[in-house]
Amino acid sequence: MTVDRVLLASPRGFCAGVEMAIKALAWMVRAFEPPVYCYHEIVHNQLVVQRFEESGVVFVDDIGEVPPGRPIMLSAHGSAPEVVAAARDRGGYVVDAVCPLVTKVHHEVKTRAGKGYQIVYVGHEGHEEAVGTMAVAPDAIHRVETPDEVAALPQFETPVAVLAQTTLSHREWAGVVEATKEKFPQLWQPERSDLCFATTNRQTALMAIAPQCDAMVVIGSANSSNTNALASLATEAGCPRVFRINGPDELPDDITGTVGVTAGASAPEDLVRSVIARLSPANGVEEVQVTDEDEYFPPPRNLRELLSAVDAVASVMLPTPETPAALDDRNIDASDVLESLHRHG
Ligand code: SF4
Repeated sequence: MTVDRVLLASPRGFCAGVEMAIKALAWMVRAFEPPVYCYHEIVHNQLVVQRFEESGVVFVDDIGEVPPGRPIMLSAHGSAPEVVAAARDRGGYVVDAVCPLVTKVHHEVKTRAGKGYQIVYVGHEGHEEAVGTMAVAPDAIHRVETPDEVAALPQFETPVAVLAQTTLSHREWAGVVEATKEKFPQLWQPERSDLCFATTNRQTALMAIAPQCDAMVVIGSANSSNTNALASLATEAGCPRVFRINGPDELPDDITGTVGVTAGASAPEDLVRSVIARLSPANGVEEVQVTDEDEYFPPPRNLRELLSAVDAVASVMLPTPETPAALDDRNIDASDVLESLHRHG
């Protein structure tokens, strides 16, 4: 492998929603005796899931697998209303770590369906966010991914709205919305698109480096929608070689020239560091920053109420100088929290 230089996209990696979810689950791990249960992967990243498993978190795809009374976290992708209700029925402490931007789409679905709209929802089949969102108003929502699927929809007699999964790429979304507008000229759309700032910023940063790269490395898991969107965008931008990898072991040996590196919103920064170390560029790393991203999402409300208790418990369970105080959540980095779980797990 003879890599000349690395162009490192910024922003990349953890978004505000993922930061919030990871820190929230870490506080749960510290506050409760293991096991803490988590419905679905907290975020779509193998390393993150593995670190939490090593710390005593059990991931389940069915709330029925959680023993009554045990604490449960619901993942960042958002859960169906019946899943939230089933979790509460188990009688344990429940924290819903849904990203506020996903909650906004759930709210739009509920409001439009309540006003009698049929909703065209642009989202990936089977993705947890799409499944959870559609469950908010299953009788009024129609999931589509392509203009052909829009064409196959019936001509609704009611008003029609269009909403979207937050982590789609602009290109995935734009063509389908155009087709929906053509079919339903009176279409209602939210003032601001549902595509989240983090998805958009990571795509803009990738586009700033892709034309100069002989190869692009996108770090993130195969089931991460925004990671896949980044990889597709790099290919569409004409980058001759694009690799979506979980970590440095999956880098091909014959990668050469100028290499672009970015990471999906659920990939931790230590993976970025280890990928760059393996690439070992002869002429160093240039970080290309397209915008400063300083969004912060505080912990879920009921967890905030618990934080002072978490602080007290954490000081007993992990009495190390580097154990962060939960009340200082804003100034704590989720990557550092993961590292600390790893050290003490
Ligand atoms: S990618 Fe966007 S919608 Fe998804 S968790 Fe991050 S901030 Fe929220």
